[in-house]
Amino acid sequence: MSRLHDVSELLGTLRAFAIPMRTRFRGITVREGALIEGPAGWGEFSPFAEYGPRESARWLASAIEAATAGWPAPVRDRVPVNVTVPAVGPQQAHAIVSASGCRTAKVKVAEKGQSEADDIERVTAVRDALGPAGAIRVDANGGWDVETAARVLGVLSRFGLEYAEQPCATLDELAELRKTLLHGPADIPIAADESIRKAEDPLAVKAAEAADIVVIKVAPLGGVRNALRVAQACGLPAVVSSAVDTSVGLAAWVALAAALPELPYACGLATMALLSGDVTAVPLTEAAGELGVRRPGVDLAELAKWEIDPEGWRRRARAAAEHLPALFGGTAGGAVGGLASRT
Ligand SMILES: [Mg+2]
Repeated sequence: MSRLHDVSELLGTLRAFAIPMRTRFRGITVREGALIEGPAGWGEFSPFAEYGPRESARWLASAIEAATAGWPAPVRDRVPVNVTVPAVGPQQAHAIVSASGCRTAKVKVAEKGQSEADDIERVTAVRDALGPAGAIRVDANGGWDVETAARVLGVLSRFGLEYAEQPCATLDELAELRKTLLHGPADIPIAADESIRKAEDPLAVKAAEAADIVVIKVAPLGGVRNALRVAQACGLPAVVSSAVDTSVGLAAWVALAAALPELPYACGLATMALLSGDVTAVPLTEAAGELGVRRPGVDLAELAKWEIDPEGWRRRARAAAEHLPALFGGTAGGAVGGLASRT
């Protein structure tokens, strides 16, 4: 049986969903995606709408890995997670942190249309809610230039930041900022997030000396095994951060966090709270600042609440499948290589 034949058989099982979000995220208010079922269980294929077939192929490879091969053995049974504080006012920021059981907060900063004072007020409120023992990281989503980043991080350093995520957009800027911070009074580690979307990116980040930490995502890197390989090849501490999936998809990201030999930081996996529903009966939600390492299956009654016509998603998956051989053909192997050897 050929590899592509296996894939088309898998796509025959495809079911699609549309679940309203509780909070707007990446400009979307409804999260759409697809689920496929294979011998190892369910996998999720939910690349964002703007992703073309080539980029979506990595997401498909990740879903195929979940459905056909499962994931590497975990080295821990719980994963610490952070609460995320959007660019809201200080009172709401305080309430979000107080309502969660997390001991680590990720605070969005550098929001367009807001001032540095807004960022400082927000971080002040989060420190107050978290207490002195909690960890705070800020995420600028590349919104600062080097000078602004150095200045604002200098002010925020009195709150004891564990790191600053993507303070600037480019590797050159990150490297320059890192050098500046290293020799200044505010020695805050830098994490690269948006700079890492492809397998070769972490190595480029390392080579440019642009970051101290890498944020690793499962589906954009083509699955748990590939993401694990990428993290290990890069050699920098990794934080696993998800893209708002159902619990079925999220389980893959949890599996990566559970399989990493070292996990020094809380992960950005408390994302189920962003969705108003799920396709499983027992969602992977945060409790006491942690996620249990487990793999929920699809609950057909839950899925039925959100199910939509699968034809559009099946077309997207078929188009993405065309790019699978180019993605994993060659020497590296990967999720599809795993599929071929296991079926
Ligand atoms: Mg980020």
